[in-house]
Amino acid sequence: MAFTTALTKHVSFSSRFLRDTGYIDGVWTAGDASRTFDVLNPATGEVLASLPDMGAAETRDAITAAHAAQPAWAARPAKERAAILRKWHELMVANADELAAILTAEMGKPFAEARGEILYAAAYVEWYAEEAKRIYGETIPAPSNDKRMMVIKQPVGVVGTITPWNFPAAMIARKVAPALAVGCTVVSKPAEQTPLSALAVLAEQAGVPAGIFNVIVGEDGPAIGKELCGNDKVRKISFTGSTEVGRILMRQCADQIKKVSLELGGNAPFIVFDDADLDAAVEGALASKYRNAGQTCVCANRLYVQSGVYDAFAARLAAKVAAMPVGDGFEAGVMVGPLIDDKGLAKVESHVEDAVSKGAKVLTGGKRIKGAGTFFSPTVLTGVTSGMQVAREETFGPVAPLFRFDTVEDVIAQANDTEFGLAAYFFAGDLKKVWRVAEALEYGMVGINTGLISSEAAPFGGIKQSGLGREGSRHGADDYLEIKYLCIGNL
Ligand code: NAP
Repeated sequence: MAFTTALTKHVSFSSRFLRDTGYIDGVWTAGDASRTFDVLNPATGEVLASLPDMGAAETRDAITAAHAAQPAWAARPAKERAAILRKWHELMVANADELAAILTAEMGKPFAEARGEILYAAAYVEWYAEEAKRIYGETIPAPSNDKRMMVIKQPVGVVGTITPWNFPAAMIARKVAPALAVGCTVVSKPAEQTPLSALAVLAEQAGVPAGIFNVIVGEDGPAIGKELCGNDKVRKISFTGSTEVGRILMRQCADQIKKVSLELGGNAPFIVFDDADLDAAVEGALASKYRNAGQTCVCANRLYVQSGVYDAFAARLAAKVAAMPVGDGFEAGVMVGPLIDDKGLAKVESHVEDAVSKGAKVLTGGKRIKGAGTFFSPTVLTGVTSGMQVAREETFGPVAPLFRFDTVEDVIAQANDTEFGLAAYFFAGDLKKVWRVAEALEYGMVGINTGLISSEAAPFGGIKQSGLGREGSRHGADDYLEIKYLCIGNL
């Protein structure tokens, strides 16, 4: 067994949710992999598991299996596919604690947040179990009496999914559930940091037949990605991760005009107007900025606060942030866990150093926490200006940089001055302003007087260089469907 006691002190060796290989055509297998890679606990630096380093050859085998299995899966009545997804959802809910422990161990987020992610992931599976039965077509009034015109929707076929480490369960569920619901089959590649939460084991236990959902674990993302993009049996790539890798995948899909859905990076503005409910705005900022230690794509990245409330907001936010317990996600009461790895920690540190060197002031935090884990103290910066790195790049850490602004026009211009367009937030009282700002923000999602917007019932996704397509809601199924127009003539 390739698991260490660093993992099995949190999850039993005999857990039916632990697997130490990939999953191809219904078989747990290492394929031909001759090397292994380690999965670490970011809170302690300990090795949790060693997994086979699978690559292009195993990906090809998984694609072949998914391709062979797809027609029979698509031919099953939607109600049968729905029943299997429903079982999968029930398994996740019933075993949320055990699944959350695996997630906290490999990703670091506090256990309560990890449990929340498992239930969030399960909600997508439930949603698409329901949606599977509602893939409606349409009839179109024909322009002549001897014709009838209609539209049916059919699955795109084999889908390759590539997902990041920051929501290792939810990001997979959000893709695999709609794909399977409508009759596609999937080859999934989870992030190398978080392969243990890849969920295939639940699909297997729920009765998903062999070949329908396959998982490749490995650290050579580019090799696996090239096979997924270049293999003509794969009809679509669904990716969540950085804009940089999204661009590479889109280029690689160009030769075959392969469909792509891309959930990419963000640079979310979080705006507090003078007439906002300040307590609500502080709570919203805490939820949006510090959840998952600031490692979410919809995290408030730039906080714009109007001059009249700037000092009061900064003081209240800093007081709450200074009191947030930081530590190992398994410790009771911890609200902020470690960053995923040294690279993530170094980026956060460099953003803070850059801001301070250009005149920003640290109200609280501002430093890495010494020790084995990759911890950064929750931070609030004031006096932040547009020339600093925090204004342009995703910090992906627990740092709130506060910019001062005076007018609505000014803040909208600053908020939109980025190539990203995923999420934005604002807090305001006046209804006219609420509409005006909501419509003017160039983002796929806008939270108004709330810092939490994610839900399986909502279309999640970005515009500009934050991506293509939507996940969740009824719109999320469309990303895995082709429209076919039928015309009956000579009637
Ligand atoms: P990343 O570096 O882009 O990695 C994401 C996934 O892509 C991983 O599985 C990675 O594999 C794989 N990968 C890397 N290079 C590849 C290549 N050349 N070809 C194919 N696959 C490749 O992103 P990350 O640092 O893990 O995640 C953080 C980013 O994700 C942030 O920018 C965040 O905003 C974004 N994100 C967006 C959303 C959204 O819904 N819009 C949600 C969550 C996160 P390895 O792990 O093996 O390198």
